[in-house]
Amino acid sequence: MTATTAPATFYGHPRGLATLFFTEFFERFSYYGMRALLVLFLTAAVAKGGLGVDDATAGSIYGIYTGAVYLFALPGGWIADRLIGTRRSIWYGGIIIASGHFLLAITSSMFSFMCGLLIIALGTGLLKPNISTLVGELYEGKPGAFRDSGFSIFYMGINLGGMIAPLVSGTVGEMFNFRWGFLTAGVAMLLGLIQFRATSHHLGAAGFAPKNTNPAERTRGLRLLGLAVLIGIALVTAAGMGLYTVSAPVVAAVFKHLLLAIAVLYFGYILLFGGLNGTEKRRVGVMIVLFLCSAMFWAGFEQAGSTFNLFARDLTDRSFLGSYFATGEHPTTWYQSFNSICIILLAPFFAWLWLALGKRNLDPSAPVKFGLGLVMLGAGFAVLLFAAKLILATGGKVGPIWLLLTYLLHTTGELCLSPVGLSSFTKLAPTRYASQLMGMWFLATAMGNLAAGQIGGQIGSDVHTMPAEFLHMTMYGVGCGLLLLLFTPVLRRWMGGIH
Ligand code: GLN
Repeated sequence: MTATTAPATFYGHPRGLATLFFTEFFERFSYYGMRALLVLFLTAAVAKGGLGVDDATAGSIYGIYTGAVYLFALPGGWIADRLIGTRRSIWYGGIIIASGHFLLAITSSMFSFMCGLLIIALGTGLLKPNISTLVGELYEGKPGAFRDSGFSIFYMGINLGGMIAPLVSGTVGEMFNFRWGFLTAGVAMLLGLIQFRATSHHLGAAGFAPKNTNPAERTRGLRLLGLAVLIGIALVTAAGMGLYTVSAPVVAAVFKHLLLAIAVLYFGYILLFGGLNGTEKRRVGVMIVLFLCSAMFWAGFEQAGSTFNLFARDLTDRSFLGSYFATGEHPTTWYQSFNSICIILLAPFFAWLWLALGKRNLDPSAPVKFGLGLVMLGAGFAVLLFAAKLILATGGKVGPIWLLLTYLLHTTGELCLSPVGLSSFTKLAPTRYASQLMGMWFLATAMGNLAAGQIGGQIGSDVHTMPAEFLHMTMYGVGCGLLLLLFTPVLRRWMGGIH
């Protein structure tokens, strides 16, 4: 008789999922912990340990940084595919992220702070898309439902990080010293790396080899990467030496046009010259609509770190538990946790809902879910519109309930739109363009994040501008959502049998 040992598992899933779950937990911890502090740090007076920039500049920096994080996912995926595989990408990505956070913790000038943000964005671009791909690789040859459930667990890791980080890094940064907050983000990423190293044997052979095995192509790729790095270093050095200066709002505007141009050129190219048949063209048409809606959604949703952060700081009564803090108020950053808390609480309900509706053949199609997501986004802004009017009428602050309700509505929107967007992009894409179109999904997120920063900068913390701006956002969310719902029958036809 031979003794057999069952392979280690994580709640019935491959044990490697736990490795990636905790790596992503710590990475998101560092991302959301720092992000919660970013706009507060930028706008805080120098005497209070901040950089003392105006709202418009802070919003632009927030938009450029968070937009770049998602844009860099494109080269990040390419590096893993062509050059080093997903596993090394995660490892080096994590090291780069941690270095960036440590630089923020010791930085004293605007220039070195920007360098730190750039480093974090580059590292995140390398880590974030590839860790999801590696989760997928763990489930190769396993049933689809098992894989979906693996991804749901993984998504919990993301949100656990997003929930705890603002409470830890945010509180430390806001109440004691911003730099200590950045330090905790760096330490979190470091813990993630240690954990990854110590448990990576559970991943087996997954993610070691790049998809491309052609040595000549690899050499070409490495040269290209080397060249890009050299150009990047030259540009940064020149800026450091003061050879040119840039203003954040101008860079943000240029960046926006660049992202738009990439989207127009790419979709135009595959529609006109991609050799697609009629069905494929119509499906790509649906993807363009979903792409635009996704960019719009994130443009509202990601104002969490810009507009809503300032709303929490200046216009929300934070006296609850205030006696525990020297300022007499609980930290602004705590509100940043609420989206993740809602996701953790609501995701199982939504999973159940879609499944239950599916059993009755009532599962809404992707455009319907996107439409609902946008309506929820608009509804969230409507709540803040009332809150802003209340503030103007009473002259005081409003209770936390308003902001919490907005976050709740936005989270229900996220749950309608985000998971479904990812999977419809994989299903609608013609196979030979699958990974490029996945990149387009990230590009939509990048556009949304950038716009969220720009809009946030425009709104700032001046309550007088808020009613008009929040009204725009409400109309834009509800209007686009309803329009999408109206056109659903056409889009469904174009989807050609895909749900
Ligand atoms: N909260 C999710 C994450 O951090 C999704 C964010 C997004 O796609 N904009 O991964």
